[in-house]
Amino acid sequence: MPRPLLATIHTAALANNLAVARRYAPNSKIWAVVKANAYGHGLARAFPGLRATDGFGLLDLEEAVKLRELGWAGPILLLEGFFRPTDIDVIDRYSLTTALHSDEQLRMLEMARLSKPVNIQLKMNSGMNRLGYAPEKFRAAWERARACPGIGQITLMTHFSDADSERGVAYQLEAFERGAEGIAGARSLANSAATLWHPSSHFDWVRPGIILYGASPSGVTAAIDGTGLQPAMTLTSELIAVQTIAKGDTVGYGSTFTASAPMRIGVVACGYADGYPRVAPEGTPVIVDGVRTRVVGRVSMDMISVDLTPCPTANVGARVELWGVNLPIDDVARACGTIGYELMCAVAPRVPVRAE
Ligand SMILES: *Cc1c(COP(=O)(O)O)cnc(C)c1O
Repeated sequence: MPRPLLATIHTAALANNLAVARRYAPNSKIWAVVKANAYGHGLARAFPGLRATDGFGLLDLEEAVKLRELGWAGPILLLEGFFRPTDIDVIDRYSLTTALHSDEQLRMLEMARLSKPVNIQLKMNSGMNRLGYAPEKFRAAWERARACPGIGQITLMTHFSDADSERGVAYQLEAFERGAEGIAGARSLANSAATLWHPSSHFDWVRPGIILYGASPSGVTAAIDGTGLQPAMTLTSELIAVQTIAKGDTVGYGSTFTASAPMRIGVVACGYADGYPRVAPEGTPVIVDGVRTRVVGRVSMDMISVDLTPCPTANVGARVELWGVNLPIDDVARACGTIGYELMCAVAPRVPVRAE
């Protein structure tokens, strides 16, 4: 018998969330972002729910090849571009589109032997200061790319730093317009947050990731209320033991939790080796037997302990939801000082996954 831990992937939710993204950006094509093994959902498992997209965005060549093997013949975008000349052989062979953000990448493409030109998304650094050409260097890069026989269509791309927060996208839109002024070609700017909240940034292609998985770009669950987004993953387990403890008794490594009264403690088969964050503090929400309760004591490698006070009838075998349909992943993430993105990406390979 495997442990009772299970990640269930909701195919219908993925399809719904893609439709939500389309509703928000009705005049744009969609790069469905499936990097990091579809944000931990599994590329092959996420694919059926997302196949109504216009293209897929990801990072690893192996994931791109896997998508082709799954039967995807449409566009695939390498969001970080490529790293060495041999990568270009794979790009050519599998007809991938690539981000191009540096002179080093441009030089590699200029030197490459190709069977056909490669479509690129020329990336501008419009203020995030991570990847891309500065606005004042953008035109020169575009002209050099245009002159390169190995390069086909050139889409203009940038990425936002604050689309989910107060600063917003205006400062980058302004920089982008300045750097791209007078340059023809499709535009690709918006991540999930900009897809939801900054329609002026939609242009020709949007690149939503996190909203396809039903979590909030800002990490705040209430921020996606009313959008119609649905969680695409539910992580469940069971109580594998129950302890009745007395006032003054402690729970787990380091004895970090002390009972202030007699109480029942449930032990759940899920720990940090499964991807549940070890930093989850006392009070992190968890659902046991349909009732929202809290983590107590330290998260250990294979188990967590939960307070059974609000669910007095819960016993060994009771269903536990770590996050998902009844408990937003962002609520759990927030208690841990992080965002839903990190939790879903961290689900460990040892966790059984089932798509439904
Ligand atoms: C990851 C990524 C996205 C998607 O971001 P979300 O916040 O998950 O929507 C879009 N564009 C690029 C370049 C990315 O790396």
